[in-house]
Amino acid sequence: MIENVFSWSKSRDEEFRECQRKYFYNRYASWGGWDRNAPKEARMAYVLKNLKNRWAWKGETVHHVIEDVLKSLKIGQPVTLDTALARLTQIMRCDYRSSKAKKYWDDPKKNLGLFEHEYEREISDAVWKEFHDSSAECLKNFYGSALFKEMAADDKNAWLVIEDLEEFEFADAKIYVKLDFARQKNGKIEIFDWKTGKNDHEAATVQIGAYAMYAMKRWEIPVSDIQAFLFYLTDRAPVVSEKAVNDALIQGTQETMLASIRAMRELLSDVGKNIPKPRENFAFTTNTRLCNYCNFYKVCEKYKVAPPYEGGARGGL
Ligand code: SF4
Repeated sequence: MIENVFSWSKSRDEEFRECQRKYFYNRYASWGGWDRNAPKEARMAYVLKNLKNRWAWKGETVHHVIEDVLKSLKIGQPVTLDTALARLTQIMRCDYRSSKAKKYWDDPKKNLGLFEHEYEREISDAVWKEFHDSSAECLKNFYGSALFKEMAADDKNAWLVIEDLEEFEFADAKIYVKLDFARQKNGKIEIFDWKTGKNDHEAATVQIGAYAMYAMKRWEIPVSDIQAFLFYLTDRAPVVSEKAVNDALIQGTQETMLASIRAMRELLSDVGKNIPKPRENFAFTTNTRLCNYCNFYKVCEKYKVAPPYEGGARGGL
C-alpha cells in the first residue's frame, strides 16, 4: 500500500496559498483515486486533479519535447528542428483528440484531460491552433538560441540533470524539485529553468532558491559555486537571464518553506502520518475569480450550497 507521505514543492505551496480546499482535494481527497475501483469521491477528485488548462498543457508539452531533444543530444543523436516540431504537433494533436473524447475518465494517467473540455468552455479552433503555433514558436526559439548552439558543443559528460524529479530533506519533510537542466561549466554548476509564460523574474525566486538548496546538498558545493538562469522561450531570440544565487536567497527560501510547511502541518490531525483534519478546516478561497479556473469546481462544497453567480452561471474563461 502506497503511503501518502507529506512533502513540499513550489506547486504544492501555490495550491495551498490559492485555496486550502483545493489543496485538500488535490493532496488528500484524491488519494487512491488512481484505482478505477476507488471510492467515487477519490476517483473523481483524482481525475479532476490531473486536468490541465491550455497554458499548463503548452508548458508541459514544450518542456517534454525539449527534454527528449536534450536526452537524444546527450547520447550523440541530435534531433532536427523539423523532427522536434513534428513530434510536438503529434503529441498535441493526440492529446487534444483524446481529451475531447474524454478518454481521461478511463485512464487519467495515460490520457490527457483538458480543463476546457471537462468544463465545456467555448474555445474556438483558432485559439487552439494559436496554442499549438505558439508552442511551436517556443521550440523554434530554443533551437535558434545561442544557448542551444553552445549546448550542442558541450562536453555531455558535464550535463547533470535533464528534467529529473529530485528530492531532498528539509525541516523533516521531503522537498521535491524538478530542474529543467543543469550542467557543470567553468567550475560552477549552472541551473536552467525554461519559461513558456510571461516574463516574471520575481515569481521564480523561491523556485530557484529550492533548486540551489538541492544543488548544494546533492553536489556538496557552496552557494557561490551555483549559477541559475531563466530562459524565456517566448522571446524570439531568447537569452539567459541570470537570477542571483547567494546566502540571502537561500535564507529567504528557507524562511518561506518553513512558514509554508508549518501552515500546512497545522491542518493535519496526525503530522507523523500526514492525516488531514476534517475538510471543514481547509478554507475556501475568498478570491472567487480563481474558482472559474479550478479543476475541482464541480465537486467543491462551496458551490453545492449556492451557485457563485446570479442565475447559477458558472462563468467562462
Ligand atoms: S472552486 Fe474555488 S473554493 Fe472550491 S476548491 Fe476550487 S478554488 Fe477553492
